[in-house]
Amino acid sequence: MSKRDYYEVLGVAKTASDGEMKTAFRKLAMSYHPDRNPGDKEAEIKFKEINEAYQCLSDGQKRAAYDRFGHAAFSQGGGGGPGFGNEFGDFMSDIFDNFFGDGRGGGPGSGRRGGAPGRERGADLRYNLEISLEEAFTGKAETIKIPTSITCETCSGSGAKAGSKPRTCGTCGGYGRVRAAQGFFAIERTCPNCHGRGEIVDDPCPSCQGAGRVNRERTLSINVPAGVDDGLRIRLAGEGESGLRGGPSGDLYVFLSIKPHEFFQRDGADLFCRVPISMVTAALSGEITVPVIDGSQTQVRIPAGTQTAKQFRIKGKGMPVLRSREVGDLYIQVFVETPQSLTKRQRELLLEFDQSASPENHPESAGFFSKVREFFGGAAKA
Ligand SMILES: [Zn+2]
Ligand SMILES: [Zn+2]
Repeated sequence: MSKRDYYEVLGVAKTASDGEMKTAFRKLAMSYHPDRNPGDKEAEIKFKEINEAYQCLSDGQKRAAYDRFGHAAFSQGGGGGPGFGNEFGDFMSDIFDNFFGDGRGGGPGSGRRGGAPGRERGADLRYNLEISLEEAFTGKAETIKIPTSITCETCSGSGAKAGSKPRTCGTCGGYGRVRAAQGFFAIERTCPNCHGRGEIVDDPCPSCQGAGRVNRERTLSINVPAGVDDGLRIRLAGEGESGLRGGPSGDLYVFLSIKPHEFFQRDGADLFCRVPISMVTAALSGEITVPVIDGSQTQVRIPAGTQTAKQFRIKGKGMPVLRSREVGDLYIQVFVETPQSLTKRQRELLLEFDQSASPENHPESAGFFSKVREFFGGAAKA
């Protein structure tokens, strides 16, 4: 067996006192505790190794047996004894409640890793959902299909055929990793026998070939509420990939994006729409028809003498505010379209208009050019 020496694991001498052992264990356990190293497999394995070593060496009888026979004292013709894992788990929570009792927070079992090796939390999944601005306006019930793996129903995730149970791997004693000496170096690697799972399935489940999970396309209904904005992230807890061998499921994150709209730009709950008006409408007044996000249309009265960039506010025709009864406004910004491709007659009419025009017709231009003259005249005198 290529298991590490328990004294070596704790970094103490074979003659170490119980007190020394406890101090060493406490220090190591602190730094490798899974709650302090979330997602770190190496740390988890180390942590288990440390626990196992301490459990043995802190017990006078077990220590004596270990000193005489080494690891062989506890192995029963290969794998660890049945029930060993559970006993060990309970023992550990006692120790941990004593050591880290106050700082660990949460209710029983919260944030604690499941005991069995190979039990893994499923991966988080991301789903990109693109909806239109109209759908963001009304809200949308969307059915999404996610390719994912789910816990195998036949074996409930154990990977073992009905009526059989996985057994603890004899090569690594259930730790999933083995240490081997190569020259001067001790190297640790994934157990070649169980491939890191810590257990062996002799009789694999026919539905999942022993993986404990099967690939499926899952259909989920999600309700996109009215008023959602681009970039919103919706977390669906537990809807991600199934955990491995009974581990908890990951989460599903729906990333929402909203397609750019042909007419409307959005700013929070307000919508903006740029609308061209003719020179004549701008000068003489008129009424224009503009689109509304709910699919309807509305009229906007353009007063005589309207300039480009003038905004008209239509109250309550914007986007709904998420989880509230408020609604934004619609802003219509007009720009005056200069006529093009004029006929001879049209040119004559415009020229005729221009000849009759007075500074009062174009107060902005008149004002601007007289200011320019003043400015340069003043500069010349100085
Ligand atoms: Zn199965
Ligand atoms: Zn193994």
